[in-house]
Amino acid sequence: MTHSIPEQPADVVARLRATFRTGRTKPVEWRTAQLRRLRELLTENGPDLAAALHADLGKSSTEAHRTEIDFTIREIDHALDHLADWLRPEPAPVPAHLGADASAWTQYDPLGVVLVIAPWNYPAQLLLAPLVGALAAGNAVVAKPSELAPATSSALARLLPAHLDTDAVAVVEGGIPETTALLAERFDHIFYTGNGAVGRIVMRAAAEHLTPVTLELGGKSPAFVDRDADLDVVADRLARGKFLNAGQTCVAPDYVLTDPATAAALEPAFARAVEALYGNDPSVSAEYGRIVNERHFDRLAGLLDSGRVVVGGGGDRTQKYIAPTVLADVDPKSPVMQEEIFGPILPIVTVPDLDAAIDFINDREKPLALYVFSESEGTRGRIAAETSSGGLGHGLPLAHLTVSDLPFGGVGESGMGSYHGRYSIETFSHRKAVLQKPLS
Ligand code: NAD
Repeated sequence: MTHSIPEQPADVVARLRATFRTGRTKPVEWRTAQLRRLRELLTENGPDLAAALHADLGKSSTEAHRTEIDFTIREIDHALDHLADWLRPEPAPVPAHLGADASAWTQYDPLGVVLVIAPWNYPAQLLLAPLVGALAAGNAVVAKPSELAPATSSALARLLPAHLDTDAVAVVEGGIPETTALLAERFDHIFYTGNGAVGRIVMRAAAEHLTPVTLELGGKSPAFVDRDADLDVVADRLARGKFLNAGQTCVAPDYVLTDPATAAALEPAFARAVEALYGNDPSVSAEYGRIVNERHFDRLAGLLDSGRVVVGGGGDRTQKYIAPTVLADVDPKSPVMQEEIFGPILPIVTVPDLDAAIDFINDREKPLALYVFSESEGTRGRIAAETSSGGLGHGLPLAHLTVSDLPFGGVGESGMGSYHGRYSIETFSHRKAVLQKPLS
């Protein structure tokens, strides 16, 4: 169906709800057909999407494929491989007082019409990976890409309706007014990725309709480095995780937490790691991205003097370029430690020992991710047991979210709910309890 006049949000939702009521989205065949078409969209339009991601964020084609396009294809393939298994009803033991002929089970029902609101930093992946889960679970979906990644938003608004069932999947582009209008509608689930201030707006709007929400938020994800760690390996892995997408990654290591001697030894290791990744002038490296807009550039530029510059430190506003930067001697009270950095600045904060590191983490909001670099099982075990975070990565930042069989999501201020793989089915379905007792 094509629409010459943009549909009002109420009409979009009513149209999708009518489709859902027919039962069309429920059979596993419809779900897998949609997933296959989404896969085709990605394989056939990889270069177009990569170009849009380059226009919005200066992402290299390699990075666009690795972190957005191929990432989503893997999520689709995983769902196609396991969907029938995930959807299988699960028997539950029946208590004796109901009789031996009674049986009970749980089954997954789709929720209905769900809204997915995506941010700008991985503007394709963070719209499409939730979409994979919502479709796999048999829902109709309204997808709202981020207006701050306009090239990707318009590419997806063009491609999704060309490939998917337009009676069950709609793309609504726009910014605050359009999102506000959408949020006034009644949905059966809202899946929001972005910052906590808007997360609160989403949750308030959802409360009006008693609509459940998944909030994928952010925060300051610490990286604890133990004195026994191989610091060249640590610096290399932290630099890769931090400077990917110019630091605009929700699970990027936000700051390094370590003891003073290890901090001093890390400084030259970071200098070597950054040079190995991007050469001695990262501004000319094709692999290094750009800041999304001038507002974020100015915000980040204002954080560069929060410590002693060990690596990088400069930028170019006309290019929206901020050098991969490492800051040492950073005071926990300095501006860079007050908010999620969401850019290529890595402060090193020192604490005397492990106890102080654990206190430092627990004194702050629960992070989306926590990274630990330690050879000591005791240290790893203590941090795992004594802190709370959305995810925990030992020895490797970011990678936990590429494991489709792990739930991805935050806790406390970093969000609520989770998704990926079978956890997306949990999120986008109702687990219905069924009891059956024969009549004769
Ligand atoms: P953003 O500005 O693109 O906003 C996200 C979405 O919210 C957009 O679709 C936007 O249109 C909508 N929006 C913005 N203001 C609104 C308002 N007043 N009312 C209604 N809707 C509104 O993205 P952002 O929030 O800048 O994204 C960055 C944040 O997202 C960071 O905190 C980051 O950590 C977090 N994040 C989390 C994850 C995760 O998976 N947990 C992933 C990526 C980013």
